[in-house]
Amino acid sequence: MFAPHCPRCCRRVLLGTRRIVHFSWSGEGERVVTLRCHCGELLDSGQGPPPAIDGHQPMEPGTPLNGPATQEVTQPP
Ligand SMILES: [Zn+2]
Repeated sequence: MFAPHCPRCCRRVLLGTRRIVHFSWSGEGERVVTLRCHCGELLDSGQGPPPAIDGHQPMEPGTPLNGPATQEVTQPP
């Protein structure tokens, strides 16, 4: 299994061997595996997230920032 970071999905994706589209050895004997993400993006097996967003945790989609601001203030007479 591989877990490269997909820039289109904005997260790491788990890809099995059936997702391999290209496999070769570089000149220095390094393994070069190209995988296709579920979204169709081609990824290098060792691909990590871009350093710009390192340490930044993206929010889950659909997370509400605040609840509805409809608080009724009832004053005693
Ligand atoms: Zn993807």
